[in-house]
Order: sequence, then C-alpha cells, then structure tokens
Amino acid sequence: MSIPVLRKFKPIAMFYLNLSLVISLVVVAIYLGIYMRNNRLLIESVRQQAVSCFDLIVKVRRWNVDYDGIYVVKKPGMESNRFLHEVGIEPDIATTDGRIFTLRNHAIMTSEISRILREYNGVQFRITSRQLLNKDNAPDGFELKALKKFDQGEPEFWAIETGTDGPLYRYMAPLVMEHSCQKCHSGFGYKVGDIRGGISVSIPFDKIAREMTLNRRVIIGLSVLTLALLLGSSYIMLNQLIGKIDSAQRALHEASISDELTGLRNRRFLMSRFNEEFERARRHNTPLGFLMMDLDHFKKINDSFGHPFGDLVLKGVAGIISGAMREYDVAARYGGEEFAVLVPETKRQDLVALAERIREQLENQDISDANSTVRVTVSIGVTSLDDNDTPETLLKRADNALYQAKNEGRNRTVLL
Ligand code: GH3
Ligand code: MG
Ligand code: MG
Repeated sequence: MSIPVLRKFKPIAMFYLNLSLVISLVVVAIYLGIYMRNNRLLIESVRQQAVSCFDLIVKVRRWNVDYDGIYVVKKPGMESNRFLHEVGIEPDIATTDGRIFTLRNHAIMTSEISRILREYNGVQFRITSRQLLNKDNAPDGFELKALKKFDQGEPEFWAIETGTDGPLYRYMAPLVMEHSCQKCHSGFGYKVGDIRGGISVSIPFDKIAREMTLNRRVIIGLSVLTLALLLGSSYIMLNQLIGKIDSAQRALHEASISDELTGLRNRRFLMSRFNEEFERARRHNTPLGFLMMDLDHFKKINDSFGHPFGDLVLKGVAGIISGAMREYDVAARYGGEEFAVLVPETKRQDLVALAERIREQLENQDISDANSTVRVTVSIGVTSLDDNDTPETLLKRADNALYQAKNEGRNRTVLL
C-alpha cells in the first residue's frame, strides 16, 4: 500500500483521481443539499411564526373595526388618539358617574399590542402604507420594497436584515381595503380590494442565525469526515487491488520466462537474452560464451527408476548448474535433459573452467530420493563469439562441440 504503486499504474492513478472527484462532488452535493434544506426549514419555521403574528393582528384589528373601536378607561397620563380628530371623531367620553373613557381604534390598538409583544419576546409589527394618517408609520426601506412587490402581485415578502440588536427576520404581507376601512381611509382614493398598505412583522433572528452557523459547522465537519473516510478507504482498497494485480503480473511474467520443472529460465527467454547479448558483445567488442549440455544416458535413469525420479534428477542438475554460475550468466533448460548457459564477458579459458566445474560437481554428487540414489554425468560443448559469427553459427558451433563430446565418450567438455 504505497503511492509508488499508484504511480506505477498511471491509468489507475487517473482512475483514482476521477473517482475522488466524483466522490467529492457527490458528497459535497449531498451535504450542500442537506445544509440548504435545513436552513430552509429553519427559515420556514420563522416565516410561519411571522404569518401567525400577521394573521392574529389582522383578526384582532378586524374585531376592533367591527365595533368601530373599543372604549377603554382613560387612566392618568394616558393619551387620547389624536388622529381620530382628523377624521372628525372625538376620542374621549365621560360617563354619568364621571369616569372618562377614550376610544382605541384598530390603529392605536395595533401599535400598543406591538409594544407589549416587543417587550415580551422582541417581536415587533407595524402597519405601514405609502399614504398615511400617522406619519410615524412611514415605510422603511424593507417595507417600501415589500409594497413594490405587492404592486407586482407578490402575496408576501421577507428578508433577513441586520438590526441594531442583531439580525432580524422581517416579514410583510399586504392589507387589502375592505368596506370597514373606508370610513377612515377612503380619503386616499382606495377602492375596496385595493392594497392600501401592509403589516410588517420583525422577529429576532439571532437564535436561528446561531442554529444556522452550528448547522453549517456540523455539515462541514460531517462532509470532511465522510470525504476522508470514502477517499481514504477507496485509496486503500485500490492500492490493495493494485498490489494484487502487480504481484499477479509479476508471477505471470516470471512463469512466462521460467521452466516449470527446474525453475531455470526457459528456452524462449534464453534465446531473447542470447540475441541481446550477441548485439551487445558485437557493439562493445566483448567476449560472449555459450555452453550447451546434455545429460549422458538419461534415458536409462528414466527406464530404471521411473519418470518422476528422472524429474527429480533434472531438478538436482538445475540446482548444481545455478550454483556454479555468476549472477549475470543466464542458465536455461534448453530441452528435455539439455541445458544451456549464456556467459557474457568471459574469456575462453574461463568458460572451460565453468563447464568443468559443473561437470565435476555433477559427477561427484549423489542425487537421491527415499529409495534410490544416482550420479549423472554430462557432456558439455563450449564455444565463444568469433569475429565472423552470426547468432546461428555461434549456436551451431556449441551444438557441434556437444556432439563431439558425446562422440568422444561423454562426461567431458569440448571447446570449439
Ligand atoms: P545421450 O544423450 O547420452 O546420448 O543419451 P540419452 O539417453 O540422454 O539421450 P536421449 O536424447 O535419447 O534421451 C533423452 C531422454 O530424456 C529421453 C526422455 O525420456 C528424457 N526426458 C526428456 N525430457 C524429460 C523430462 O522432462 N523428464 C524426464 N523424467 N525425462 C525426460
Ligand atoms: Mg538429449
Ligand atoms: Mg542425453
């Protein structure tokens, strides 16, 4: 599990990059969706609160209007509604027992309830219009925008604004001219059904804003965690997969260049290395040797001890040949009981020494299983690169040397 493995398989590294990109996009999209949905729900809960306020105040005003205003006891310090004079109504009355009552119409009632609510939970509402009896109710920037939206047919308008005491959720819906309104408001030319203004509700938004911030932090934390888990686990799994593919590939390659029985290189690999070494020796004018070996009377071993024992002998011979070589020589099983060694950069007399080492070791070494013990001998043809050689003539001369060793009585080395 390492980056070098990913680097080795560039297409897989690209695949991992693409996969990471897709995972990241999906995770971000999911969490962004959850975040936006949560925020929408939070804002919707405040909107519902604002709508309830609006509805309640409209109903309470309606109740007041239906009675043409309500008389309340005028306590000391209490002001009369001065705007009633403007529409020709005297707000105060005295009863026969001397008590003074003053008329609270819907407008002043609304502003008084608003003040109580504001002290109670910070919620404020007010009636506003472009044409006013009470100039204190002139629309502010938000309310002007809302009135414009109502003119364009919008049923409501809301925004989040920064107030002096923190963020405010501001909501406004229109007030529609009814018959009962005409008494006071007809002076402005409104007809029944016209929008004559609106009621705006402001709800402290700091708690919700804090919730939204917390929501954002939790979502960012979760998405980073999910991304790390997904990207990390997919990286680990991909690396494990690549590791397996890598070792399978190496095992396949090793199998494709090896002899199954002896573990030496196979003939195909030997011949491709032979051609490479031939070219290199020609280029650099360095010596190149070739040993060709054939076990003597091997058929007899098979006949006497059976084919499986013959296989065991072949493995033993391969072990002896490998042990006698240098690291950069290439030993191969050339055929059934024939072996060959490619020996680069070695002088002729050293080739013979190598061949003799192998031959003598074989001659003196018991090869045995639980039941049988044998010694085998080998005939070896040795040759090295001549100036006029082609690969074919070099091989042919090694073959001839081997043939000569056989003819001269076996268990010997012939150098040609
Ligand atoms: P010589 O080379 O000295 O002339 O005699 P030889 O008996 O070795 O020659 P020959 O080529 O006639 O016989 C080679 C034998 O090698 C024949 C075959 O059964 C045996 N042989 C070839 N491949 C294998 C193998 O993979 N396993 C075993 N057990 N025997 C094999
Ligand atoms: Mg043979
Ligand atoms: Mg033989």
